[in-house]
Amino acid sequence: MSKVFLVASGMLSCKKKTNVFSKKQCYVNYGILRLASVLYESGIDAMVVQGLFRSPTEIVSRLVSLGYSGSEHPLLVSVPTFFAVPWATEFSRLIRQQYPDQQIFIGGQWVVNNRVDWICEKIPEADLVICGTSDDHIVELTTTHNNKFQTTYKGNKYFVANSKMPKSFLRYELLDEAHRFHPSIEVSRGCGRGCSFCIEGNIGLTPLQEPSLVVENLEYLRGFYNHDSFYTYFQASNFCPNQEWALQLYREYEKNHLDSLWRCEIRVDTINPKTLNLLAKSGLRVIDVGLESASKSQLKRMKKTKDPDLYLKKADILLRAASKSGILAKLNIMFYPGETHKTINETISWLRHREELIQGVSAGSLILFETKDKIKPAIDEFESLGTSLAKPNPDDPEGVNRLNLSNEISFDVAEKYSSDICNMLMSDKDYFDLKSFCYFPRNYNYSDFQADIEETRSTNALDFEEIIYI
Ligand code: SF4
Repeated sequence: MSKVFLVASGMLSCKKKTNVFSKKQCYVNYGILRLASVLYESGIDAMVVQGLFRSPTEIVSRLVSLGYSGSEHPLLVSVPTFFAVPWATEFSRLIRQQYPDQQIFIGGQWVVNNRVDWICEKIPEADLVICGTSDDHIVELTTTHNNKFQTTYKGNKYFVANSKMPKSFLRYELLDEAHRFHPSIEVSRGCGRGCSFCIEGNIGLTPLQEPSLVVENLEYLRGFYNHDSFYTYFQASNFCPNQEWALQLYREYEKNHLDSLWRCEIRVDTINPKTLNLLAKSGLRVIDVGLESASKSQLKRMKKTKDPDLYLKKADILLRAASKSGILAKLNIMFYPGETHKTINETISWLRHREELIQGVSAGSLILFETKDKIKPAIDEFESLGTSLAKPNPDDPEGVNRLNLSNEISFDVAEKYSSDICNMLMSDKDYFDLKSFCYFPRNYNYSDFQADIEETRSTNALDFEEIIYI
């Protein structure tokens, strides 16, 4: 049986300023690698190619160099974000032009779910849209011709799946140029904590992978990278192990003499400091903390918590515990509808008081990802807060909606605050240390980074303040 090719769409533009550093991002699309891994375990040869910031033409050539010449199997194309839609459109057009018989299946649950007709309008070459998580069905979808599809009123075919997370590894040997990437391990799916801005707010949290399997996975990666250094991202939207899980991980990690370091994303109020200490001894080195805000009114508004006082107290305890355990904390800050100078300054003041506990910050305003026909009801929800649609950035594709957050805080004012916060709390070295832990390519070092800063400064007259804010 011939090889199944899977392509993770790249981007022509992105959320923040597109520059040399945003284009360096080299982050594994672990969702599509999961599908390839499931195929591989069923005895089907598979290969994943990631578009990143390369052009669709370049990726078509890359596929050809890997042996692709049109396939009897569907070509699986993942669209992980609305920013990737124009790329996928062009890529699919090129494929159909050069290989007219090639079937193209489009997936990427955050974009395609409930938008089958819209995605088929954007990508007319789509033969099938796969909604949801299709791990349990991918073998059948790629190898048989009698799948049970549904059809929209407009005649577009789609398949809806809701698969459980498989208890197996992501196979990095199936990822083209895998050695450029730091790997990810998928440890849980979903969250269900109800934050109003988050797509996972109402999707239940699955149990964590067993610690023994996680350690086995790290051992496999150690072999794959031939004992060279690599960092691992433990993928879970809300990583919240209990003490027992952490203890078991620690024991297995020690028993197997592992020394690999890893990163994860956590809430401030779901991990106890003792657990954090055990995780640190098991390789945890960076946490992405979804603080979002330190304004009590904004925290309530975004449904991050019902008890902002307790939430902020726990955030403080968490940051102190992390710092004591040698874990670097990067905080995510989100400006949300209803924001005022007062609420933003409450957040800034809270952060300033904890400057020594914070390695870096990622700050930005809420973006509403929705298509033209559905954006009005989404905006109306915030009307009483003075929220309105902002002028889009020139490269923004349809579906990306930037906001004036209130009568007081326009999109531009929020951008300025975001950039000020990043610069206030993060040096270029902090920024590099955080980005090189799972986001920059493995071979990109600090001197390369400094050379790129100099080059960007001299050619674009950008200050580091502008460069860092990506
Ligand atoms: S805790 Fe994080 S993942 Fe969960 S709903 Fe809130 S923002 Fe989303």
